[in-house]
Amino acid sequence: MMTQVSSDPKKVGFISLGCPKALVDSERILTQLRAEGYQIAPTYDEADTVIVNTCGFITPAVEESLSAIGEALEATGKVIVTGCLGERPETIMERHPKVSAVTGSQDVDGVMRAVRELIPPDQNPFTSLIPLGPTGIKLTPRHYAYLKVAEGCNHTCSFCIIPKLRGLQVSRDAGEVLYEAFRLVAAGTKELMVIAQDTSAYGVDLRYRESEFQGGQVRAHLVDLATKLGEMGVWVRMHYVYPYPHVDRIVELMAQGKILPYLDVPLQHASPKILKSMRRPGAGKQLDTIRRWREICPELVIRSTFIVGFPGETEEDFQLLLDFLEEARLDRVGAFTYSEVEEADATHFEGLVPEEVKQERLARLMELQQRISLEKQRAKIGSVIEVIIDDYNEEPGQLIGRSKGDAPGIDGSVFCVHGELAEGVGRALPAGSVKIGDIVRVLVEDADEYDLYGEVLEVVPWRPNVPLIGALSHAH
Ligand code: SF4
Repeated sequence: MMTQVSSDPKKVGFISLGCPKALVDSERILTQLRAEGYQIAPTYDEADTVIVNTCGFITPAVEESLSAIGEALEATGKVIVTGCLGERPETIMERHPKVSAVTGSQDVDGVMRAVRELIPPDQNPFTSLIPLGPTGIKLTPRHYAYLKVAEGCNHTCSFCIIPKLRGLQVSRDAGEVLYEAFRLVAAGTKELMVIAQDTSAYGVDLRYRESEFQGGQVRAHLVDLATKLGEMGVWVRMHYVYPYPHVDRIVELMAQGKILPYLDVPLQHASPKILKSMRRPGAGKQLDTIRRWREICPELVIRSTFIVGFPGETEEDFQLLLDFLEEARLDRVGAFTYSEVEEADATHFEGLVPEEVKQERLARLMELQQRISLEKQRAKIGSVIEVIIDDYNEEPGQLIGRSKGDAPGIDGSVFCVHGELAEGVGRALPAGSVKIGDIVRVLVEDADEYDLYGEVLEVVPWRPNVPLIGALSHAH
């Protein structure tokens, strides 16, 4: 006998603001929502309630979050706020008293409780047991994923409130991280981006304790974790790496081809005085560190971010930063003007730099770095590089991808076409023969400050080692 079931699943809208770390939290919440039978609404019109995952890092991000909350409230009347800004409910309630619930970052349970209260779940087992992929719901395309290894931070950088918002660092056991990576790779992920507030401090809070993975024991230490991830045969990319001495060993893994030769290391400044006032490490040692890394791994791509116009920054300090950039010739640079963050210690610092001076310094820094970037990018013309395809371009036969030196969302792209090839270089691939997520070899033909342009030579066969990992770890 067939049972008639009424099927009217509740729909939840979702707005995810902020950094990749917040994106990982969003994925966890979405996975749980689907597991409990809720559907995800693509528009406000269809949503019974809206969850806003906020960012509270700097003042413009707070404003962006508050206006997203206002917009969602106006459209649906039922809004649940989570994420970084959720750690400061008074800021939210002051502006938007009609918000239904506020939870802090990483509080998937709190968000789910609020959703269930606001719109009780559909009890229909046919809709509440929606099959999920082995890794839950991912907001990133299937071929890359963020792997969050820790939450919180043990530093006290004077411009940052993350430690106040998210607390001291709490790391995940290495086994847990590795099993997640294993499932992701088994499900088709080809690139893993390792993230935390301070990735190189991973495991400090656990005293690097061991945990089980594939029948063996792995220490919660970045070197051990990166080694194991490298064995999976996928692209492994390191983000937010603080320049501790043990990073040399991570760079050795890069030189051995185990993980991508890419290091995202936020240096923030180069003037010893400003670094001290920011409470950042490495004053006076940054150039030596970079030289050493490049000696270990000459093809290393270094990405960094800098703040200009920090309180007390004189023209002399700024010149030190420019001199450093000229010497260091970093591959990718992000720069921001200093922006006050409520509750950050630097907010009380003297020597505020006027806005127009900040902007002028930012423009000078970017001009210098663009020249360096262009030189470095042009040096790649004529070489053959591996590129992971993220998307199709508008024109048929055109593809958009990234090299091993480009992280999604923050670095440049490689625009490539199928076509006639120079004699002896390879064979032309017919248009349509490359899919999103494929890794291809590309002949670089042109370059600008950020992007490369070239022709696809061939598709690189994809052979992750995941099925072999058990055998490998049992072998010793
Ligand atoms: S390392 Fe500094 S900037 Fe980064 S999260 Fe920690 S306190 Fe903030």
